[in-house]
Amino acid sequence: MKISVVTPVYNESKNIPILVGELEAVLNKLTLQYEIIAVNDGSKDDSFTVLQSLAKDNSRIKVINFQVNKGQTSALSAGIESAEGDVIITIDSDLENDPNDIPKLVEKIHEGFDVVSGWRKDRWKKQFIKRKLPSVVANWFISKITGIKLHDYGCILKAYKKEVLENTNLYGEMHRFIPAYAFWRGAKVTEIVVNQRPRIHGKSNYGIGRTFKVLLDLIVIKFLDKYMNRPMHFFGGIGFISLGVGAISGTLSLIFKIVGYKDFVQTPLPVFSALFVIVGVQLVVMGILAEILMRTYYESQGKKPYIIKSKINFK
Ligand code: UDP
Ligand code: MG
Repeated sequence: MKISVVTPVYNESKNIPILVGELEAVLNKLTLQYEIIAVNDGSKDDSFTVLQSLAKDNSRIKVINFQVNKGQTSALSAGIESAEGDVIITIDSDLENDPNDIPKLVEKIHEGFDVVSGWRKDRWKKQFIKRKLPSVVANWFISKITGIKLHDYGCILKAYKKEVLENTNLYGEMHRFIPAYAFWRGAKVTEIVVNQRPRIHGKSNYGIGRTFKVLLDLIVIKFLDKYMNRPMHFFGGIGFISLGVGAISGTLSLIFKIVGYKDFVQTPLPVFSALFVIVGVQLVVMGILAEILMRTYYESQGKKPYIIKSKINFK
C-alpha cells in the first residue's frame, strides 16, 4: 500500500519545513511507501523556494506550482489528480492539523472504510458565538441536506481510498463535500476526532464569508445529486406550481370582474397572474434547456448516470 499526502500551500514558508519534518517522522514509522505532494497555490511569499529546496534532497517530496492563486479546493484537486497512492490523505499546511493523527486515519481505512474524516472537536472553544455556533449550525445543516452525519465537513485532514476520488471534479468550496459525494455513490464513511493546533506562523485566509459560499455550493451538489439526470423534474416542477398560481389568480380576477365585485385595476390579481404565468413558462423552457445540456454532458463524454457494482454471467 502506498500513501499520498496532499497539502495545499498558500503563504506558508515558515510552516512548510516543520510540516514536512513532522510528516516524515510519522510516515517513516508507518513503514509504508509514501509521497508528499505539496501544491503551491500561487503563494506571494517564498513558499515555492522553500518547497524547491526540500524537494531537491528528497524525491518523495513532490511539488506542484500554480501560476496564480486558485484557492484550497483547486490546490487539493490538483494534488489528488497527480497522486499515485492507494490511500490519499489531505492535510492543511499551516500546522493546524496534526500529522500524528495520520496513523489513526490509516487504521480506519484498513478497517474497511473508504473515507475517514477528521473532526476538530475542540476548535473554537473560546469564540463560541462568533465561530463555534455558526460552524455547528452549518455542519448540522449540511448533514441534514446530504444525509450523512459528520460534525466537521471543513476539516481538511481526511483520508480517502483512491477509488473514491476517481471522477470527482472539485469546484468552488467543494472539497468539504467529497465525503457526501462518496456516500451517495455507496462509499463507507466515518469520522474520528483529531487534534487541532493553533496557527503560529502566517494568518488564516478565510473568514465568516466562506459560510455563504459553502451554502451555495451545497445547493449545487444537492441539485447535481438529485436532478442531474432529470433537470426537467426540478425546473418543470416549480414551473407548474407557478403556472398554477398564475391560473388561479387570473381566474379569480376574471370572476371578480364578471360578478361585478372588483374591476381588473382594483386588485393586484391580474398582475400576479401575468407574473406567475411568465415565470412558469420561463421555468419550463429552462428545464428543456437543462435537459439538452445534461444530455450533451453525458453523451459527449460517454458518461453514464449510474454506477454498476458488479455483473453476473456476462461475457
Ligand atoms: N490555502 C491555499 N490556497 C488559498 C488559501 C489557503 O492553498 O487560497 C491553504 C493554506 O495554506 C492552508 C489551508 O489551505 O494550508 C487552509 O487555509 P487557512 O488556514 O487559511 O484556512 P482556515 O484554517 O482558516 O480554514
Ligand atoms: Mg488554517
